[in-house]
Amino acid sequence: MKLILLGAPGAGKGTQAEIICGHLNIPTISTGNIIREALKNGTEMGVRAKSYMDEGKLVPDDVVIGIIKERLAKDDCKNGFILDGFPRTVPQAQALDDMGVMIDKVIDLEVADEAIEGRLTGRRVCEACGASYHTEHKPAKTEGVCDKCGGRLVIRKDDQPDTVKGRLKVYHEQTEPLKDYYAKTGKLVIVQGQERIEETTKLVLAALEA
Ligand SMILES: [Zn+2]
Repeated sequence: MKLILLGAPGAGKGTQAEIICGHLNIPTISTGNIIREALKNGTEMGVRAKSYMDEGKLVPDDVVIGIIKERLAKDDCKNGFILDGFPRTVPQAQALDDMGVMIDKVIDLEVADEAIEGRLTGRRVCEACGASYHTEHKPAKTEGVCDKCGGRLVIRKDDQPDTVKGRLKVYHEQTEPLKDYYAKTGKLVIVQGQERIEETTKLVLAALEA
């Protein structure tokens, strides 16, 4: 199954993607994680992309499309994948269509802006493997330490309050039009994000079976 998870930053796409990919046994392709990996490895593209992210801006389409194209060509994507954080603009969605990628479903996770601002302040991310946690909703077993790899949990710079407001503005202007784009193809399913992660997962899985 080839899936796209849409939604505002902080709507819970990453968390849901991790859970669903376990159910479906397909990889999650998160542009955020791929870009952070590139930065860790010190590639020129990574440095370039990260400077936009730190300012709460979108990474330019040509950079993102290049990364995605490379990633989707790998063997583990043969049986499907979950795209988390891509496409983020209508031109990116068109680029995906141009690559000949046939998407089965697009799940849009809806969460109000106010709720998102609250969520993001509690978010912690493993600097080693990219796993995400939340101080209230999904705490690590040991505070500040990743359950999966023992890495250090940090607050990403783009989760700081001022940056979050900027990211939401960018989302409404540039990403939200994707709902119309995919509604026209009949592939869009809207899921109301719940306060509890498990409740949202139930709705997402039901949407996938429908
Ligand atoms: Zn980790």
